[in-house]
Amino acid sequence: MLMTGPAIWLSAAAIWDHDVEDAKAEAALVREQAIVSRARGNQLHWVKSMLRRSSAAWLGYGNPVDLVASRMDVHRSTARDMVYLARRLDDSQIERIRQGEVSYVRVLEETRLREAGASPEEVARTRDLDLDSVGRVVQQMRKITREDERRIFEGQYVAFQPSLDGSHVRMNGRLGSFEAEICREALNRRGETLVPSGEERPDAGQRRALALTTLCQDELDQHPMAAPVAEPAGPSPRSRREPLLMVVARNPLAEASGFEQGVSVLAGGRVGPDTVDLIQCSGRIESITVTGQDITRHGSTSTIRPGLRRAVLARDEGCTIDGCSSSYRLEVHHILERSRGGNNSPENLTTLCWWHHHVAVHRRGMRIDPQSPPRRRRLLPDRPSCGYRPPPPDPYTLAALRALAKINRAPP
Ligand SMILES: [Zn+2]
Ligand SMILES: [Zn+2]
Repeated sequence: MLMTGPAIWLSAAAIWDHDVEDAKAEAALVREQAIVSRARGNQLHWVKSMLRRSSAAWLGYGNPVDLVASRMDVHRSTARDMVYLARRLDDSQIERIRQGEVSYVRVLEETRLREAGASPEEVARTRDLDLDSVGRVVQQMRKITREDERRIFEGQYVAFQPSLDGSHVRMNGRLGSFEAEICREALNRRGETLVPSGEERPDAGQRRALALTTLCQDELDQHPMAAPVAEPAGPSPRSRREPLLMVVARNPLAEASGFEQGVSVLAGGRVGPDTVDLIQCSGRIESITVTGQDITRHGSTSTIRPGLRRAVLARDEGCTIDGCSSSYRLEVHHILERSRGGNNSPENLTTLCWWHHHVAVHRRGMRIDPQSPPRRRRLLPDRPSCGYRPPPPDPYTLAALRALAKINRAPP
């Protein structure tokens, strides 16, 4: 008993010391934040007097926000907040911030809240909320005017940004809420229908991406970009034109490596070996040689002759994957890919639905078991890549390909 007493006392003291240290540190942080807030008050005072003095020309800047951002070396959003507040607060309100009676950020949020139409009681009720929550209340109260909606409509866009190596693209954009809902709903519905029964469903975002691709592909088929090529007459239910033209620099290294180096497509981006295989099945390819200053074109070829394509489609009467009943966008596929030495003989060609062709085979890397019966094809798991490591891209060839892609894209 005699031993335990002091021991407990000691550990309690240690905990107590710890708590005191933490509390001290916290108090210091709060004090420092108050200093920051008072400093903002001082800056606000300067901004307000600057706004009063030089309304005509902002000391050579286009607007006061640029002036504040540049002079105080702050983000534009901070400068915008300060100019916003300086225009709305009178001198006595700014003085209260400078004296530390109210905090700068709280005043900022409360000013926005009042502008959004909150009553003094509603403003008072938000005093217990953290600042993020006050921000959410502001969002909810803010009116959406006709002017706002029209501005959003005028500013709507969809953009495609290629990655640095050109191998993939990020899509982003802004739509009005109604227009966005139309697109989302349509892509959701279309995405639902794309996955054959029995297949594992990709997540909603992936389904929308697939849906968008097929939507655009259907549209391109109806209105081909490329000049129509005379096709021999035959039993063609609907005439299909391959929408994408790939420009391949005739490069023995690229071909020997199974195109793991990637090649350029008409749009100017670069695609990898799986896409090369896919285009060999369903696209057209134009090969060029770059020698010194000269670019020699070798003409464009559809890798599978249209007549042969139709014959294979007629022979197979639908997707040949065992158990698949989808007939959406039936396409002809090389069982042994061209890049791996496969040829265009009818025995090496088989019909696949869009899902099995684009998703299962060319994107998930499954391949058709050549031993499986022609009408009941089995899929085998991915095979390992050949292990080829690409050399650094040759900048001259890339620049030439990009320039050529631009020329090709220009309207006739
Ligand atoms: Zn294919
Ligand atoms: Zn299928």
